[in-house]
Amino acid sequence: MHLDLMDAKAPVVEEIRAAKEVAWENPGVCPFDEIKGKLPLAASDIADAEARLARFAPFIAKKFPETAPLHGIIESPLTDIRRMKDFLNESCGADITGRLLLKQDSHLAVSGSVKARGGIYEVLKHTEDLALAGGLLGEDYTVFDSEESRAFFGKYAIHVGSTGNLGLSIGIMGAALGYRTTVHMSADAKAWKKKLLRERGVTVVEYDSDYSLAVQEGRKLAAGDPFSYFVDDENSAALFLGYAVAARRLTKQLAEKNVVVDAAHPLIVYLPCGVGGAPGGVTFGLKHEFGDHVYCFFVEPTQAPCMLLGMATGLHNEICVQDVGLTGRTEADGLAVGRPSKFVGKTVEKLVSGVFTVSDEKLYVYLRGLWNREGIFIEPSACAAFQGAVKLREMSRLFPKDGETEERLRSACHIVWATGGSMVPKEEREALDVKA
Ligand SMILES: *Cc1c(COP(=O)(O)O)cnc(C)c1O
Repeated sequence: MHLDLMDAKAPVVEEIRAAKEVAWENPGVCPFDEIKGKLPLAASDIADAEARLARFAPFIAKKFPETAPLHGIIESPLTDIRRMKDFLNESCGADITGRLLLKQDSHLAVSGSVKARGGIYEVLKHTEDLALAGGLLGEDYTVFDSEESRAFFGKYAIHVGSTGNLGLSIGIMGAALGYRTTVHMSADAKAWKKKLLRERGVTVVEYDSDYSLAVQEGRKLAAGDPFSYFVDDENSAALFLGYAVAARRLTKQLAEKNVVVDAAHPLIVYLPCGVGGAPGGVTFGLKHEFGDHVYCFFVEPTQAPCMLLGMATGLHNEICVQDVGLTGRTEADGLAVGRPSKFVGKTVEKLVSGVFTVSDEKLYVYLRGLWNREGIFIEPSACAAFQGAVKLREMSRLFPKDGETEERLRSACHIVWATGGSMVPKEEREALDVKA
């Protein structure tokens, strides 16, 4: 690795190496109209994914009764958090003047994290492909909730490498459809996630190593078996599109809340980032909805800022956080990824406005603040997003300190994307000092 060359190219690498909290403005960001035709996926791909999820909705509603109120569409609330805004302004040094909303993917049905979007979508897409090829499928998708269907999918295996939440989503949906499902878990994965999966009949293989190796092993095992399918978190267009659908639904939720998005009313979105699929897919979707009026910022742990490192150096998956002396270890298990997705990095490198990093201690400040002020629990990984709302003004090229910018920010809507938490067991929450 040519570290001196990288240093010259990206001064932020020194700060990353020192594990400082940074606010990096992406110099490569482009007007959306200029680049949307050059991206590997298009608006029609997002529409296709949305339609597929709608086809499966009757099955989901039947198999997972908690989704019945939304007729089998797995979607989360968008919630005003005024008291949290006060907390951030009073106690965390923030200067948030516009509206602050929480996108509660922490409370998504079935698997309680943002992975219920991409992960479940990919399993459903694979299922539809197999069912069509096997002549199993007519108009009625509730056939997937039958013994005959489960016996059919029992011939097939699904493998996935995960730090936890992707494994939960793939495992729960895979097992519900009858697949033989194996989740390859990295060392960071929490014990309760492994236990829950085993209870659902999922095979959990544990690794001492980090996420990238767990993925590698899963990929290898699946490759040796023609009846096996590997959900490739590092390279999957299907996962990415499953996440992107969120943006189409968010547009409707914003309209219901009378939130206007235009040049004078920017939408500013903060997304916790691991390997990049979830924040990347959501960003891709949001850019198609709102173009240059939406600003998407990723947030990563100071010890695992893989996407920042990949984008700032232009090396993407050819560099990992260990190459600059970081551990890759963090309490934010969902973000404990050392090497970013090249597919995602290349797709969104001109769409993402910037990246923040956050230290582990801050995650708990945000976690307890949200609990104490709003009575909402989200997991540490998800709390990373608050760092963006707190440190936005450090993005001084995008938001300079002048009257016009102040006016725009007063009219802005900020969305903190809460990516997980509702399935965290009570004992785990209490250990974090959040008691009912
Ligand atoms: C997976 C995950 C993320 C990040 O998603 P990536 O696709 O890995 O970037 C963020 N928060 C939580 C809680 C997650 O589980």
